Amino acid sequence: MARSFRYSTPALVIRVRPFGETSQVVHLATPEHGMVSALAKGAHRPGPELQGGLSLGSVGEARLVRRPRAEMELLSRFRIGEDLRALSRDLERFYAACHVLALLRAWMQPMLPAPALFGAAHTALRALARAPRGVVPAWIVWFEARALAAAGHRPRLEACAVCDGALEGGARFSGPAGGLVHRRCAPTGPTHSLDAEEIAGLIRLYTARLPELKRSPPNGKVVRAGRAVHDLFVPYVLERRPASLGSVPGRAVTRR
Ligand SMILES: [Zn+2]
Repeated sequence: MARSFRYSTPALVIRVRPFGETSQVVHLATPEHGMVSALAKGAHRPGPELQGGLSLGSVGEARLVRRPRAEMELLSRFRIGEDLRALSRDLERFYAACHVLALLRAWMQPMLPAPALFGAAHTALRALARAPRGVVPAWIVWFEARALAAAGHRPRLEACAVCDGALEGGARFSGPAGGLVHRRCAPTGPTHSLDAEEIAGLIRLYTARLPELKRSPPNGKVVRAGRAVHDLFVPYVLERRPASLGSVPGRAVTRR
């Protein structure tokens, strides 16, 4: 016979809405259980278990009860693990964090483990809360790269995505082709041209280990190229343009 299953997990609050007078319905991103919908009963009542109510973008440890045949799990406790309040102190960080959460909402699936996606989001939010403002656009492009890869949409960057031939010098990025292509191979539709330096930088964003990227961060030109490529590719993959993309830092200022 099915029984309730209690567990604790790291969690990130990706959606929250009030439920009744004092409760909340929350969607949590978790590494091993994917997206979890849960009822936080009495969340707005004072008390140590739910700390007066959960807020969007909080990261912490959730204690959950999965009930047989119930649509939602019960959230019995949420302990905030890190202070990410700095995310709402300036608009750039706020919009950047909103975009991270929007991509999590798009790619986290119920019951589907997604440790790489969760880890990238956690790292990105922590960095966005603390890093100097100048590097916020670089962190967003890094997160998008890791999230695309984790969701199974890593673009082809090392050779032409259409003919498999080597890319000498520059190339174009095409969403429908799924990566970089020769000019002659590009399918119809919008493309973005990249030179050899931008291509090498983009490959690093997708593949280099984080400590190495921190030691030698991508330059402004590479970040702008990554922004332009993801402006094409993220809406292509999602089959819609996420609203958060319109306010993402590093966009308007890149088109000089
Ligand atoms: Zn080709």
